[in-house]
Amino acid sequence: MRYPRGDEDAPLSADFPSDVELPKVEIHATDACNNRCSFCTTGWLMREKGEDLGHPPRAILRMQLEEAYAKGARRVLFQGGEPTLRRDLGDLLADAHAVGYQATTIFTNARMAASRAGARWLAAMDVTWFQISIQGGTAEAHDASVGAKGAFEQTVLGARRLIEAGQRVKINAVLTVHLLDTFRELAALMIDLCPEEVGLDTVKPSNAFEENRESYAALLPRMSGYSDAIRDAMIAMDEAGIVARLTSFPACLAPGAKHLLAEEAGTTQTQQHRGNLVDKHRWKRSLQVKGERCGECAYDATCGGVYAPYAALHGVGELVPLAERTDPPTGRPRHAPDSPLTRALRAMLVRGAPAAIGVRDVRRLPDGSHELACFAPSGESTVLIAARSEAPAFVHTARFSVRYRVGASGARPDARLLAAIMKRLERAEDYQRAHEEPAPPPPHDLAPGADQK
Ligand code: SF4
Repeated sequence: MRYPRGDEDAPLSADFPSDVELPKVEIHATDACNNRCSFCTTGWLMREKGEDLGHPPRAILRMQLEEAYAKGARRVLFQGGEPTLRRDLGDLLADAHAVGYQATTIFTNARMAASRAGARWLAAMDVTWFQISIQGGTAEAHDASVGAKGAFEQTVLGARRLIEAGQRVKINAVLTVHLLDTFRELAALMIDLCPEEVGLDTVKPSNAFEENRESYAALLPRMSGYSDAIRDAMIAMDEAGIVARLTSFPACLAPGAKHLLAEEAGTTQTQQHRGNLVDKHRWKRSLQVKGERCGECAYDATCGGVYAPYAALHGVGELVPLAERTDPPTGRPRHAPDSPLTRALRAMLVRGAPAAIGVRDVRRLPDGSHELACFAPSGESTVLIAARSEAPAFVHTARFSVRYRVGASGARPDARLLAAIMKRLERAEDYQRAHEEPAPPPPHDLAPGADQK
């Protein structure tokens, strides 16, 4: 057995489309949680140690945000525990924006969003992404993994409510036995939910794996026994247009899905449990080992191998060098599955054959923006509609930034067509404003399930 070489510091190029652009920091917003995940330090502290975990003060988190920003972070992910248990979560997001962060993520089990009030409270927070933890393809598997009966139903409902409210949702899942045994069901669920991305993580070693706890051995079977299930599920999601990636996973254990691997971006800082910020990619590498023959492998320069406790359990005999790489597709995948916004834009904008100018089709891109294929007598062109940002655009509405590309014939979108698109977007925004209810207060006092109808 040997340790990763050091030049594996170069991450694979197939990172998530949305992750590569902004250096990220992961901050612990709380140590409280309504789940008791089998692989998580927080779950272990709460369930076995009986610790009453609370929230770090907002002022401390503000200092951590400033420290990470000074080191280059421009995107913050609030994790826990369960960040939505904090009533002042909106204040933390406001602090992040005030410090200068360009994008925010809430890493959540989304059980709070299972109620209408909870979903409205979260959707009103100006969050860039919700990263939702789903840990099994069936209720039985998920609830066993997170140690909370009924959690699957709430989490899936919460994810649906957030997606239907127009929020950008990614799913995160950890490759425990609970997930691996129901991987095909998870893929079907993802194809039905249509999140922006699905990230599949290997189980990291932590002090959650102590005596009397669901042991690492029970939780983490030999991966080679699941190669077919992994390949089938990854390919099914990929073919459905979902950006799904196995992160920190050896290519030799993913036959047929080697092109769907990803690695932590080299710019990510992460906060250890109540500790300092560290470079996440290097931290992961410090926990990994490889086989003696890995030096012969085409992936040696970018692969970290497996986590040391996995190798202690199962050895490194499964790690068989590969003669050549199947590199991931470069650039972003062309299109992502439809969201409710895609369908609304299509209903508003697409026009039929008799029209001389119009929008032929609306397609969603992997970053959540939309591409309108436009036609006019002068030629074909493309209009792009994205969430409003400060980047230069043809025009900004209250919610959107509108850009365009000239077509192959050199045609710009027809001016009358651009005006019609603008008018319809603004009319939809006016309607939304007129019917918008005021931002709701934190729904933490509601009885669980009281608002689910
Ligand atoms: S053989 Fe070694 S270097 Fe190659 S993919 Fe497997 S673990 Fe990575």
